[in-house]
Amino acid sequence: MTGTGGGGAGAPAGVSPAAASPPGAGPGFETRAIHAGQEPDPVTGAVIPPISLATTFAQEAVGKHQGYEYSRSGNPTRTALETCLASLEGCAHGLAFSSGLAAEDAILRLLRPGDHILIPDDAYGGTFRLIDKVWGPLGISHTSVGLGDLDAVAGAWRPETRLVWVETPSNPALSIVDILAAASLAHERGGRLVVDNTFATPYLQQPLALGADLVVHSTTKYLGGHSDVVGGFVATDDPELADEVAFYQNAVGGVPGPLDCYLVLRGAKTLAVRMDRHCANAEAVVEMLVAHPAVSRVLYPGLASHPGHDLAARQMRGFGGMVSFVVAAGEAAALEVVRSTTLWTLAESLGAVESLIEHPHRMTHSSVAGSPLEVDPGLVRLSVGLETASDLLADLSAALDRAGN
Ligand SMILES: *Cc1c(COP(=O)(O)O)cnc(C)c1O
Repeated sequence: MTGTGGGGAGAPAGVSPAAASPPGAGPGFETRAIHAGQEPDPVTGAVIPPISLATTFAQEAVGKHQGYEYSRSGNPTRTALETCLASLEGCAHGLAFSSGLAAEDAILRLLRPGDHILIPDDAYGGTFRLIDKVWGPLGISHTSVGLGDLDAVAGAWRPETRLVWVETPSNPALSIVDILAAASLAHERGGRLVVDNTFATPYLQQPLALGADLVVHSTTKYLGGHSDVVGGFVATDDPELADEVAFYQNAVGGVPGPLDCYLVLRGAKTLAVRMDRHCANAEAVVEMLVAHPAVSRVLYPGLASHPGHDLAARQMRGFGGMVSFVVAAGEAAALEVVRSTTLWTLAESLGAVESLIEHPHRMTHSSVAGSPLEVDPGLVRLSVGLETASDLLADLSAALDRAGN
């Protein structure tokens, strides 16, 4: 650890991406989730990293210390988290932040006034607000473009374009962007590719192995996984980018507290088993929705009819736990469905053990109502949780039966 708050240096070098790791290529994803950065404490033998609340660390002589001076710059619980998550993304460097947006903000600080960024036309609302309302007035311009169409991306490219920002699967349409192709397009033109890997998680998708320069996460979602901690993360294999982001982590100070680091680390240990079940439960829900007469359309990359299906099958290990669908009878019926489920909780956010249901047009995506990015008012978004699948199906289909009458 350095005083500028680096991290992830302990990640095993040359770890293969989980989705591609052949037998014998080093520890597998689940092993790294449980052990990377989490060796038993050498002093006490404790099998999990302690929650190190100390803000400052004793120095033997001026500048002579054990790697930690002050907890904004570096903290042992944070190092454990950063090492583990970097290992899960298959890279050497990881930096943890107090929220997903703080992590995104640290990346945007790499830009300078006059620079331009290409963002998805269905970007996460908070990402759009940060780029448009915070960085726009400071001289960073952006163009929203449908990143599924790489000709459109090439067409929107300007000499001052520095970054392409990808979310795949996207929210709430669950459209898929070709990470490999987007990375080569960005690199040919001297730009960089950032992938928000929140929806897929490192278990289902490894953007750095596909050519992305930086991965960003809201660890609030699947990585934490239990609706009890807000956090963010940046992963990269590029040591210079890592140094720059680490500089902003320390200089700006959007760091997570040690208890938050512990909670995200605890969540990460079970990420693989949770994601397998999120995917299986989502598939059961999708099968029910496709057959239900009150539903006119189901958006899920696992469906052969989804425009991104083949691409998702290529670049993801599974299709994820997020599902959107359109209620045929329109907005009033969709509002009735989200109101009347009892097991599915009506709430924003996603990625935790509890199943959630929401109405994007009026909730998560209300800020784009009336714009070309407006979400279908009949659309319902699900974050499929880990309850018994038959219970989830029974509750949702009963709500749809009522809406269909
Ligand atoms: C939630 C979310 C964010 C923002 O993360 P916070 O932890 O809420 O700051 C960014 N991107 C995506 C895709 C998200 O779902």
